[in-house]
Amino acid sequence: MTADGHESCADFLDRIVYLLDNELDATEVANVKIHLDECAPCFERYDVQRTIKMIVARSCTEAAPDALRDKVRVRLQQISVQMHES
Ligand SMILES: [Zn+2]
Repeated sequence: MTADGHESCADFLDRIVYLLDNELDATEVANVKIHLDECAPCFERYDVQRTIKMIVARSCTEAAPDALRDKVRVRLQQISVQMHES
């Protein structure tokens, strides 16, 4: 955080990951969620990370890590294309 209390999107990148890993305290969770509400690009990153975690969790019982990686890569490409076009 900078002296005037303003935080840039870069400051939230790590915390978005920590949020999904439940490694933030309640104050930090609130701060990140406020930013996600206000910032579409950061919400997209949050959504991508959450999607990857869901795919990985769902695929734990599948014995196809290469196929999983391909699925994640395709999903990320779709999202980056959408972000680029919008
Ligand atoms: Zn942001």
